[in-house]
Amino acid sequence: MKLSESRICLDCEEVFEDNEHQACPKCASFATASLLLWIVPLVSVCAPVMMKKALKESGDVC
Ligand SMILES: [Zn+2]
Repeated sequence: MKLSESRICLDCEEVFEDNEHQACPKCASFATASLLLWIVPLVSVCAPVMMKKALKESGDVC
């Protein structure tokens, strides 16, 4: 399963492959979201913090 083809159910947190109905196969909920929309914001929020931490640990802080 590819990340871009994965969806997460907002009701039961089931992760499933995108289908034409975009409905959860477990609870039939239509409250689902593309996993990409969840992953990308997380990365952009955490990246500066992680880079800062890595710089601190390596001693290369300007
Ligand atoms: Zn569900």
